[in-house]
Amino acid sequence: MVKTVKSWLGIEKQSKYVNEYFHTTNMKASIYMSAVIIVLELWMIIRMTRSIFTDHLQKVFWVLVEKYYTNYFVLLASGLIMLAFALKHTTQKTGSRWLGLPAIVVCGLAAAAEVRIIWVRTGELLAENNMAAVFEKYRSNYIQSFIVLISSLMLISMAISVMIHQKDRRWKRLFVLYLFSFVCIDFGIVLSANSYSEGGQMLTFLTMVLYVVCLLTWRPYAGVLILTVSYLIFYYKISHMLDLSTVRDFSGVVDFSLFPTGLGDGIKINGFMMWLSTVIFCFSNYHKTMTQARKDEDLESVNSHLRKISVIDELTGIHNMVYFRSEAQKLLKYVTTDTANVVYLFFDIENFKYYNEKNGFHAGNEILIKTAHIIEEEFGNSLVARYSDDHFVVLTKFDGADEKRLKLCKRIRELDEETRLSLKCGAYRPHSKENDPSLACDRARFACNSIKKHYDENYRLYDRELEEQFKRKQYIINNVDSAIENGYIRVYFQPVLSTEDTSIVGFEALARWQDPIYGLMSPSAFIELLEEHRQIHKVDICMIEQVCQAYRGAADNGFPFAPVSLNFSRLDFELCDIVGELIRLAKEYDVPPEYLDIEITESALSTAQDVLKKNMNRLQDAGYKVWLDDFGSGYSSLNVLKDFHFDVLKIDMKFLAGFSKNEKTKPILMNIVNLTKQLDMISLTEGVEEKNQFRFLASIGCDRVQGYLFSKPLPYGDICRKIESGELKISEKYRQGCSAVK
Ligand code: C2E
Ligand code: CA
Ligand code: CA
Repeated sequence: MVKTVKSWLGIEKQSKYVNEYFHTTNMKASIYMSAVIIVLELWMIIRMTRSIFTDHLQKVFWVLVEKYYTNYFVLLASGLIMLAFALKHTTQKTGSRWLGLPAIVVCGLAAAAEVRIIWVRTGELLAENNMAAVFEKYRSNYIQSFIVLISSLMLISMAISVMIHQKDRRWKRLFVLYLFSFVCIDFGIVLSANSYSEGGQMLTFLTMVLYVVCLLTWRPYAGVLILTVSYLIFYYKISHMLDLSTVRDFSGVVDFSLFPTGLGDGIKINGFMMWLSTVIFCFSNYHKTMTQARKDEDLESVNSHLRKISVIDELTGIHNMVYFRSEAQKLLKYVTTDTANVVYLFFDIENFKYYNEKNGFHAGNEILIKTAHIIEEEFGNSLVARYSDDHFVVLTKFDGADEKRLKLCKRIRELDEETRLSLKCGAYRPHSKENDPSLACDRARFACNSIKKHYDENYRLYDRELEEQFKRKQYIINNVDSAIENGYIRVYFQPVLSTEDTSIVGFEALARWQDPIYGLMSPSAFIELLEEHRQIHKVDICMIEQVCQAYRGAADNGFPFAPVSLNFSRLDFELCDIVGELIRLAKEYDVPPEYLDIEITESALSTAQDVLKKNMNRLQDAGYKVWLDDFGSGYSSLNVLKDFHFDVLKIDMKFLAGFSKNEKTKPILMNIVNLTKQLDMISLTEGVEEKNQFRFLASIGCDRVQGYLFSKPLPYGDICRKIESGELKISEKYRQGCSAVK
């Protein structure tokens, strides 16, 4: 209840936004108001001056000065100063401050005139015998003179202030607004009282009241107060005129007795109605503006929220890359920034993936949030942002950055001793003229990635050597399309042999990039990179086509050819319809499905299982065999076997790495091979480099082998030559070429 009344009267506490909204609304309104006042007063001054000469009123000059000129001047000056302040605030330009100059002149004249009037009147008063009675007669003249004098002095001080001070102060604007309103109403009262005493009406008073209270938005209680006080003063003034009707002006020129004055009931009722309607208007105006202000405030808060989330990382609450990039760019542009002493740092949490898998998504998020805040703490005044996943970037001073990094690494290690979380850091120092934060972050990231699996290295500065590698990386990303078009990407075949008679029963298709600039590049140089940049499907489609072409050539010419297994990246299923492409190309080159197998790695199965399952079914329905590649290199091997059916299980070459040293290798391999038999799969071990490895694998019943012991991946022509020379032996059923099998 109290709250409702308070809000109704406008006594409630306004939010900063609403308060500012009201203020700005009033400032805008006062621009128009003051402009109108200025024009009007100039016109009044000109009109009055002209009538002095045309009506020969030079004799009553000082009466006119007191009654009209000083009031016109003060109102004109208040209009000028109000306009200067309002324009300065709304346009943020300082040109309007020159309006203070004419205001000072005008106010100076008004003040000087009032001083003279006070001086002369006091002199006359002192000469009178009955001083008290005469003073009583001139009391209101004295009051008005002082009002004009004090207002002028205040206006002069504000005019000086607006001209000198560049800073726009809110309290000054408010002071000027109140002063302007006061002068307007005072002008209305004085001029209307003058006019009324001369038999005229009180329109000036009403206009001025309406002007101030209705064009500006006041809190209702303040509006009512202003209205009531103004009306009361005005009525008090004119009601006195009843008695003053016989009083002559001290100059004795104007005879007031000619005009009947006084307050009739009609005037009282009309005055009251006028007061009431302005009060009601004052209420409604306030509440209407309030509603609009609140609506705007809501909109603004939604906007500011949107603005905030556009630069804040949702999970960690620190800045995101949008903010980082734009701020970094600005920062490096400042003349005060010592660009020779800055460094971009890229952080990557080592073992984070493992931590996530072990402790779950939530715990992983907690670590990210903590890491983000620790980085922010350690690099206090620097620019910090989350780059992506478990990656963060910092732009800081090079001096002292390393100590901070070491402290930071220590704190991250302490977050979880068990998982041995640690921070890898890549650093990049930009050249003085360089200002591309994205590229700089890429380079720092590249430096960080270069030490990814180096367990003894946690920090790497981007140097010339990395620059070379980085250029090559950019080259690969930018040139994959043209490399495919120009035939630089070629298929190499690595034989897969049967352990029974070491004859070739298949090939694995492996990509090579024969580049005119960089020479022969192995997949390690581009496969992961193209996956990272979501372009890998282009290579894989190109490989399908080349294998199909090789098959067609062999089939048409009766050359030996065995089924080829193709490596599909897990991203192929996302980036294109790889199965559709395979079926299309096989049809185009007329390749039977028995000649094409698909290798999918374990890691492919950990993400987007639905899509993969659907595509595996499509492949198997179309007659293609699906192999599980790199078995044993990930974490979830056995589950994968439970959920999917594979025709061939490719045992990762890691198993053979410790073959002769690690006692456990043999029983593990044996068990895996047994498992494949139970699950009705063909077993294939890759990376066979030594004879004893092969002998062991054959002895435990591993079906197939692949490795440097037999052959490295080679172009199809080389394979054919080796078969011809007897260096390689191909299974009987594939010797006659593909057409024989058909
Ligand atoms: P992967 O599928 O496991 O291929 C086997 C890799 O082991 C090949 O490396 C092969 O040259 C190598 N290798 C074969 N025998 C031996 C051996 O006895 N000892 C050793 N140390 N290595 C051996 P490569 O050709 O460099 O390919 C590396 C990886 O790149 C492949 O691993 C595969 O994951 C990927 N890759 C290759 N070609 C393609 C492709 O066309 N598409 C996709 N998506 N990935 C491909
Ligand atoms: Ca493979
Ligand atoms: Ca493999």
